[in-house]
Amino acid sequence: MARGECNCGGVQFQIDAELSAVIICHCSICRRSTGSNGIAVLVVANEQFRWLGGQEQIGQEQIGQEQIGQEQIAMWKKPGTEWETWFCRVCGSRVPGVNDPARMFVPAGCITQGDDALRVTHHIWVGSKAVWDEIGDAGKQHPEKFGG
Ligand SMILES: [Zn+2]
Ligand SMILES: [Zn+2]
Repeated sequence: MARGECNCGGVQFQIDAELSAVIICHCSICRRSTGSNGIAVLVVANEQFRWLGGQEQIGQEQIGQEQIGQEQIAMWKKPGTEWETWFCRVCGSRVPGVNDPARMFVPAGCITQGDDALRVTHHIWVGSKAVWDEIGDAGKQHPEKFGG
């Protein structure tokens, strides 16, 4: 079991699974979005994911199988791409969002409990990483997306 939250605490969630695998995306879109070398995420099944805070406040928008508070969480999709990001409207923290119809992605940095076993298992879009970004762990490196 793991828990996480954004910096202001308005968005909170729980994951009912033992977490281990972290994927880091080094693509230029993620880099601009975070201002860093990319973003580290976990992917979990919808039924393992539960919002703990905010969702009753407002929104009826379906994200995964859960309803979330639209006033607290904003989504932005980059025009002309499939790239989407979810973030807290109050503090700007990156928060979980839809990976695909069956799974959520969870930014690894907002996990506050249950992260002891986390290790980087995959790096994606390594072929376009920043020149100053040196990968120092044992995660498998993919030039583009998985299988790319
Ligand atoms: Zn927040
Ligand atoms: Zn990316």
